[in-house]
Amino acid sequence: MILARITKAIREQNWFAVAIEFVIVIAGVVIGFQVTDWRATIEARAEEAALLERLHSDLENVSSDRWDWAADRAGNRDLLISASAILFGDREGELTAAQCNALAQSHVFNSPSLDIPILTELLSTGELDLIRPLPVREAITQHFLSNGWSAEIDTAINHVIYNLSARHPQYFRFNYPDDPQDWNPLFDGSARCDGAGMRSDPRFLNELADNISKSVYFMRAVLEGPNESFRSLHAAVDAELGIEHEAAP
Ligand SMILES: [Zn+2]
Repeated sequence: MILARITKAIREQNWFAVAIEFVIVIAGVVIGFQVTDWRATIEARAEEAALLERLHSDLENVSSDRWDWAADRAGNRDLLISASAILFGDREGELTAAQCNALAQSHVFNSPSLDIPILTELLSTGELDLIRPLPVREAITQHFLSNGWSAEIDTAINHVIYNLSARHPQYFRFNYPDDPQDWNPLFDGSARCDGAGMRSDPRFLNELADNISKSVYFMRAVLEGPNESFRSLHAAVDAELGIEHEAAP
């Protein structure tokens, strides 16, 4: 139709009409490209918003497990230190049930991962660049670095560990409870310790010292190491989504 009109205008040497028809054709092509581009932008933004929502949800789920366990391990380390005052130091006294259980689990250095499922998924499919906001991208990179370093320390700590109740059974006794439904001997305060025997056994004390040393690295490098980068990533995602929390996440 347009081609016929242009042909007719050329034949009649109506250059003004030819110019108008050309402008109409070019404008049509440009508008077509812009509509396509606009649609692609809208779709990309919707996809990115959905990914950021998933990322935020993952951050919340991962962190609650992690902070609870970190608090539990910090409490256990405090008990190990107070038990050490009796076992290594001059303080007289019997070990409490809580201190005894802390000794029985002094080799427990596992931790809930700070790996974030959606990021692992995007990394494996090569689609991490679907998340475009620069502050979030920078925070993701920083978190990968911190988390990787923490994982290396975690592996090193768990390479050799001393399970004291298994290696020195003569000093531990786990009492069978009235209600054994949820019995968790290493963790529930049902252990009883022979403190005098422990104090006089250099091998036991040295193995305990090794576990206590590792617990420092475990707290600082594994449980606390990546927390700052994790919180920064959460804050960057919050800012991007306009989310405000009453308490610090
Ligand atoms: Zn948040």
